[in-house]
Amino acid sequence: MEKLSGIPIRYIKGIGPKRAKAFAGCGIQSVEDLLYYFPRRYEDRTKFISISAVHEGENQIIKASVLVSGERRSFRRKGFSITEAIVEDATGRLSCVWFNQPYIKEYLKPGTTLILYGKVERYGDKLQMGNPEFEIVAEDIDESLNIGRIVPIYALPAGVGQRSLRKFIKYVIDKYLPRMNDFLPYDIRSRNNLLNLAKSIINIHFPESPDMQKLAYTRLAFEEFFLFQLPLVLRKLEKKEKAGIAHTVEVKLAEDFIKSLAFNLTESQKKVIREIKSDMTRPQAMQRLLQGDVGSGKTVVATVAGVIAIQGGYQVAFMVPTEILAKQHYEKVSYQLSAISYQRRSIRVGLLTGSIDKKEKEIILKGIRQGKVDLVIGTHALLEEDVRFKNLGLVVIDEQHKFGVGQRALLPKKGLNPDVLIMTATPIPRTLAITLYGDLDISVINELPPGRKPIRTQWIDNDKRDWLYGFIKENVLIGRQVYIVYPLIEESYALDLLSAKKMHLEFKNNVFKEFNVGLIHGRLKQKEQDRIMSEFRNGKLQILIATTVLEVGIDVANASIMVIEHAERFGLSQLHQLRGRIGRGNYESSCILISDADSPEAKSRIDAMVNYNDGFRIAEEDLKIRGPGEYFGSRQHGLTGLKIANPLTQMQLLKRAREEAVRILNYDRRLETRQNILLKEKLLQRFPEYEKLMLVG
Ligand code: ADP
Ligand code: MG
Repeated sequence: MEKLSGIPIRYIKGIGPKRAKAFAGCGIQSVEDLLYYFPRRYEDRTKFISISAVHEGENQIIKASVLVSGERRSFRRKGFSITEAIVEDATGRLSCVWFNQPYIKEYLKPGTTLILYGKVERYGDKLQMGNPEFEIVAEDIDESLNIGRIVPIYALPAGVGQRSLRKFIKYVIDKYLPRMNDFLPYDIRSRNNLLNLAKSIINIHFPESPDMQKLAYTRLAFEEFFLFQLPLVLRKLEKKEKAGIAHTVEVKLAEDFIKSLAFNLTESQKKVIREIKSDMTRPQAMQRLLQGDVGSGKTVVATVAGVIAIQGGYQVAFMVPTEILAKQHYEKVSYQLSAISYQRRSIRVGLLTGSIDKKEKEIILKGIRQGKVDLVIGTHALLEEDVRFKNLGLVVIDEQHKFGVGQRALLPKKGLNPDVLIMTATPIPRTLAITLYGDLDISVINELPPGRKPIRTQWIDNDKRDWLYGFIKENVLIGRQVYIVYPLIEESYALDLLSAKKMHLEFKNNVFKEFNVGLIHGRLKQKEQDRIMSEFRNGKLQILIATTVLEVGIDVANASIMVIEHAERFGLSQLHQLRGRIGRGNYESSCILISDADSPEAKSRIDAMVNYNDGFRIAEEDLKIRGPGEYFGSRQHGLTGLKIANPLTQMQLLKRAREEAVRILNYDRRLETRQNILLKEKLLQRFPEYEKLMLVG
């Protein structure tokens, strides 16, 4: 029997080439796509509100007929048109207005019956409905899809109305749905109280009752989560079984290293190191995600892992997203490692970035090839073809969100299934992490090193500049250093914003002329950036004007003030990362956000910064403000397939879907048994790229 995903919607009566194109624009190609094109909301049209009973300030739905209608120009705004209709039902009259939609008038002929949905507001001394959505009710045809029930409202393909879309969907449900088998195995449905597929599809479009709509919604959301979890769980199981390196259990060198540090590890760091050690000694490759807020000390944890690998004779590759960060890590890590020796020699650390000169690069590459470099820290230059390891045993990827999925996968390929440690400072709630990064094990550092003073964050507007400049001067005079960050390097014609370059001149020549003020941004030559960073690090520069090149990793303990101009232009996690550049020493630190923002979204981002210091909390707020689609969008493949499921509000359902995925793959790894055949088909239809993973045994 032909699959519904293979039947083009052109086969539906009333859908010609033009409409088919409009449907394709909404991602609808096949009959199945249409069944899975869910409403964006519903209207309960089992009962309408009488006009005499409408409330101010709420969305309401009424059924009424047009008494008179007309169009006028706005007096206040030129070229602005207002279309008005007075409608009436048995109980009264109400005015409805539409702004700048003159074409609407032709639908509003006196005597026409309408269903109207919109917000009722007071206008002068009367109530009116502003910009209502409406449908014309025909008296002489069957209106059972549109009236007297809970009615679906869809996002519309161009040139298709609500009523015809409903008709198409109803037609497809009647004609094709009986042919559609439920791919979710019966036992999964019954264990989780899930509606079957046919009932769910019917009730998501034309709910028999609000309860049935909810059940349908739950089933379809579960289905999305489940399909999304299967490949992740499968990948995890496969990796677990593939042979990797069993690093030696004897970890004397690592202990020496930890003892040699200038500080004691936090309990959290110790716990995470235990988890990593136990992974590394196992004969399978580690696949671990290390989450920890900015400043929680992830680098040293990664270095300990590196020492364990080196002691066993393996090489370590440590990849970071920027040159500045590579350089900084290189300096810090080589310094820390110089305290210990291995086989009566010191550990050899190399730096590989795009900007080191050719001769130096040759030497490093040779060292890597011959196994003379134990640990190489670098940017994505590490991914280039001429980088060949003799014996790569551990891969560390820092600030993983700055790399694409493809880039992350490349580095481990330079060894024979080496251990992989991925680090991120944009943490998400644990349950969510487990399910989203379902193919990785997860470690969390949930405390900051002792002695850190919390950072005070405040939001000021442009009027308080004088105060701010005074505050900065006071702090520089007692020896602190300051970052001031701008969203742009240079002025732009399109955006009326202050830029780093312009303000650098202003500060250097006027406001802070008694101090040394530097400028750093991504368009400067790498050598220049390095020079400026080291001048800031050794205190020669007191104030550093910057762009988001500062965002990741920079660690200067004496810097205690972070000013961010036009804070509304930055994302929440970006703001948090920038703030993470201060509060690294024992000084009182201040983060000052300058913004005249008035959009609610920008305000809530800045408020979140003022109210919370904790990265986990910030991430939750960010998720709430942006929604999971946007938040994970490009980052996590597969989440884009979540149309109605929401990992934030439905964590329980997500968890259950994951448990079912684990259960099923544990007894039928390749989904070969008869009851799972349909599921496999569906999975490969949704994620064709998993074909290989499913087939290769
Ligand atoms: P992040 O997790 O943001 O990458 P880093 O690894 O850069 O954090 O660590 C931030 C700073 O804290 C570094 O200067 C590091 O040397 C220091 N640090 C790390 N662990 C500790 C600790 N247990 N006690 C004191 N300082 C620490
Ligand atoms: Mg770091």
